[in-house]
Amino acid sequence: MTTPVDDDGLKFSSFEAFRLINFTFIKACQTLTAPDLSPRDRAEKLMHYHGDLLAAYGPGVPLPFGEFRHKLHGPIDGLLPPWLDRSAFDDLDFPVVDAEGCVTDSAFDLQWETSQLHRILKRLRRIGRMRFTEEQLQDELDQDQMYEILKGRGDAQYVTDRTTLVECPAGTKAELGKRGLPLNAIGYYEPIPYHAIYRTWWFPCTVCHWPMKISKRAGAGRGYYRVACLYGRHADTGASFMFRPTTGDAPHLHPDSPDTPFPHEAALALRTSGTVPEAKPVEGHLALKRGVWRYTCVPGLYELRLHTVLRERLAAVVADLDEAVALWPMSDAYDHRIEVKSPDGSAHVFTVDVKDYTHARVLAESLDRNEGDKGGAEWLVVPDHRADQIPLLTVTCRKYGMRAATMTDFARLVCRSAGVVWG
Ligand SMILES: [Zn+2]
Repeated sequence: MTTPVDDDGLKFSSFEAFRLINFTFIKACQTLTAPDLSPRDRAEKLMHYHGDLLAAYGPGVPLPFGEFRHKLHGPIDGLLPPWLDRSAFDDLDFPVVDAEGCVTDSAFDLQWETSQLHRILKRLRRIGRMRFTEEQLQDELDQDQMYEILKGRGDAQYVTDRTTLVECPAGTKAELGKRGLPLNAIGYYEPIPYHAIYRTWWFPCTVCHWPMKISKRAGAGRGYYRVACLYGRHADTGASFMFRPTTGDAPHLHPDSPDTPFPHEAALALRTSGTVPEAKPVEGHLALKRGVWRYTCVPGLYELRLHTVLRERLAAVVADLDEAVALWPMSDAYDHRIEVKSPDGSAHVFTVDVKDYTHARVLAESLDRNEGDKGGAEWLVVPDHRADQIPLLTVTCRKYGMRAATMTDFARLVCRSAGVVWG
């Protein structure tokens, strides 16, 4: 390994290599377990990813094929070459795939979050050398194209369409057709993912309505299955169930996590359907691609909730609500713009980006590279369950004249500025 020229170079090559390696492992892991591949196709694909990985490791880091296959079941840390600088990451001691061969939420998020960072670094350094294939960029392209499709119909329609997308991550073709989304957006819906299928059925999350993941658990007698949303917070707040295997009929689910929100989060807690989901047939149903669900629907629910609650609370003191409490304003430069007047007459404007990152250090690094928020937001707001990210983000935000807060703390502060009691 050559000596890095500077700290930037070291960090860049670390993130670049990390992104490539993590991507390759995710693809290889999926190849290991994809049900529709012939043994020959499976072996060919694995050899292809093994080659990609050796290229990313660079010379002098051997990795025999057998060891490569073995490592696919271990934690991410074990997959990284010794030369890779790990200091910019939080914990890397989690597996890429779980027992069912489904990519874990942490690994999936880390892939996306480092991609965002990688894109910033690339723009800053104007790297001409393109190391990534079309396939590797597909998730990002999906997301970008999705916003372009939605933006094409004007600002007001954009808010309507994005809201529809957030609230409707799965459904039958007929149901989706009735929602009025642009035709191109329908293309982001796919058959129900195989990790969410039990025989011929699937179950929508009680919070986000995307298909929940199904995993078999060993237990007394026939064992049982757990059904839970892949977004951990939904699973922890109601979207987690179990059922006994059935032979004829669709199974009935039994809740195994409480769906009462924590008291301090109650005002802004996401609404749940409040009922046990019934089995839906796989046949005829479609669901958004995982990346679009994770990076549009999941944070979108928080953005919509914050918007709704602020409108309710400020309705009595603000003359023009649409003007004063705006969602995704200025072609989505940021997520919220809120303007209130204090009882003493002074005006306050809050511009906000909601960030739902699993890996806070990667988010902090992205802020550093952009020298603040790309769209110019002055507030960085995280969902309440990410409160432990606030100390780190506060330090980073302060450098760029920004502030970081949880959703509840932020909403409370806005209300206080407007002379409204949070209660
Ligand atoms: Zn969910």
